[in-house]
Amino acid sequence: MIEFRWGSATDVGKVRASNQDQLLTADPMFVVADGMGGHNGGEVASAVAVDEMAKVETVSTVDELIEAVQQANREIVDRAKLEPELRGMGTTLVALVGMTVGERQRLGVANVGDSRLYRVGDEELLQLTEDHTLVEALVRDGRLTREEALTHPQRNIVTRALGIDEKVLVDTWELAPVAGDRYILCSDGLFDELSTDEIHGVLREVEDPGEAAVALVEGAVESGGRDNVSVLVVDVVEADGVDDEIPDDRIISIHKAVPDSVLRLDPPPETGPDDPHPDEILVDRTIQKPPFVTWRLGVFVAAVLIVLAVLLSSVVAYARSSYFVGIDEDQVVIYRGRPDGVLWFDPTVEEPVVLSVSELDPEDLPDVIDGVEFDDLDDARAYAEALAERALTDDDQ
Ligand code: MN
Repeated sequence: MIEFRWGSATDVGKVRASNQDQLLTADPMFVVADGMGGHNGGEVASAVAVDEMAKVETVSTVDELIEAVQQANREIVDRAKLEPELRGMGTTLVALVGMTVGERQRLGVANVGDSRLYRVGDEELLQLTEDHTLVEALVRDGRLTREEALTHPQRNIVTRALGIDEKVLVDTWELAPVAGDRYILCSDGLFDELSTDEIHGVLREVEDPGEAAVALVEGAVESGGRDNVSVLVVDVVEADGVDDEIPDDRIISIHKAVPDSVLRLDPPPETGPDDPHPDEILVDRTIQKPPFVTWRLGVFVAAVLIVLAVLLSSVVAYARSSYFVGIDEDQVVIYRGRPDGVLWFDPTVEEPVVLSVSELDPEDLPDVIDGVEFDDLDDARAYAEALAERALTDDDQ
């Protein structure tokens, strides 16, 4: 079993009227959720997320963790349908959970949005999660430097959140738990106010997780407190039944929720044929065995290939049959395809709209970030023109 010791703190900050952050400390499940949306929507969304995660009793695969997050997402979506004044509410979610995978102990991490999970390294704070934000996408593309991103006016625009769609894209990690490791889950109110060096310093100096969390939250409020601040410090006190070889970065596997990106960083350890451990049942091991070919198998394979070819052509047709208005870097553009792509068919830019994201009417922004779909190009053009008109009206005021 993994034994944790933890402590947390949260504060409304100096500017906001209410605290829309929520923390969950339900050993072995730890969650930080940062809600957004008016009319109490943010508070409701993050509270529903945390309540749903609290219901999860045991997690033994990252897929189960993803399903828990999907369930939380559905609850928020359903709640927003019931109460129209909560429409548009959403929440980020970062979760750390102790898992028993087969006979091994593991840590599962899930992330949606711009709350973060770090591990406290000897020399520095190691950010594990990747922010789902507009600026992070710009940094990844080399359009913005890390430093510019820190102060970018649109740094709070998240590109993924719970409560927006029926399904949410969830990034997950499976980690090796190591006694003595310290993790921190936090909302953006922390790292927008304190540098990672400052955060690291406190986490190295203050041994008690609760005292460390309080010190960090107080520090963030003192240096501005422009947003709600939440910090959850989780120490791994004991961990039995872990792998013999533990990767330096603790990472056993990463699953980023975009097509074709299931990464496995290290080859799996060699195990006996009767090891039931699900983690070792990997595609690359099964294909190493020579196939046992018979004519029946040949006919079957041919039939499957024909079915696949038919399916594929309809997927291509589907993937390319619509248009949507969305964002490319900082420009509004018309894409051909589907906002999240279909399989490996990413949308392509059909034509630019001469309008930058910063000019958009703020009310239009969430829709455009998600991508507004149309069956034909003319409708997409008409919508883009309407966007431009609203943007112009704003300037005139
Ligand atoms: Mn926040």
